[in-house]
Amino acid sequence: MKILVVEDEHKIAQFIKTGLELESWSVDLAFDGEEGFDLASSEPYDVIIIDLMLPKIPGLELLRDLRKKDIHTPILVLTAKGATDDKVECLNAGADDYLIKPFVFAELVARIRALSRRPKQQTDGVLKLGNLTLNTIKREVKRVKIKISLSKREYALLEFLLKHKGDVKNKDEIIQNIWSYEDDILPNTVEVYINYLREKIDKPFPSLKPLIHTVRGFGYKIDTHE
Ligand code: CA
Repeated sequence: MKILVVEDEHKIAQFIKTGLELESWSVDLAFDGEEGFDLASSEPYDVIIIDLMLPKIPGLELLRDLRKKDIHTPILVLTAKGATDDKVECLNAGADDYLIKPFVFAELVARIRALSRRPKQQTDGVLKLGNLTLNTIKREVKRVKIKISLSKREYALLEFLLKHKGDVKNKDEIIQNIWSYEDDILPNTVEVYINYLREKIDKPFPSLKPLIHTVRGFGYKIDTHE
């Protein structure tokens, strides 16, 4: 899952980023409303966190601008103020949720989880493909009931592929969705991680059909057939 945090206070922004990365999420930071708008409208995010008091474009205006541009990514607003007016105004401007600073980090994480689940509530957080399951709440991956332990990056890659099962994803799309823009990774890294996943998802089950496929010249997909 990929999250954008728009917060001008560098310390807080970095604190949020570090905490969310512990959840295996990939986090981009923007330090003013303008940068936030540029990133939010050019990169695919699962959730956007916006602080209300921002330089260049204030949070509320940024929120309105994004919704006007038909960007429907779930947005959680952060604010130091606790006035109810703020809350109503934010929700009217298109925010999905609202959190007052200082907040308990676990609450931020819980709310992000809830927001990211919103579009597909019926799935109970479990992504499935044949005999492979990924439980996004327990962060557990199993194939024919055997637990598979993955690194954070491997998990994120598998989650991304499973969310788009059957679709061919090229290296650029994978990089954009799995790594943060400052990671500066090479397309070959994707290949390396695809191979790590194969080693854990397909290789230990030689009697089962492989699920991870290379589509030569295009990219990769996860599917029950080639
Ligand atoms: Ca601020």
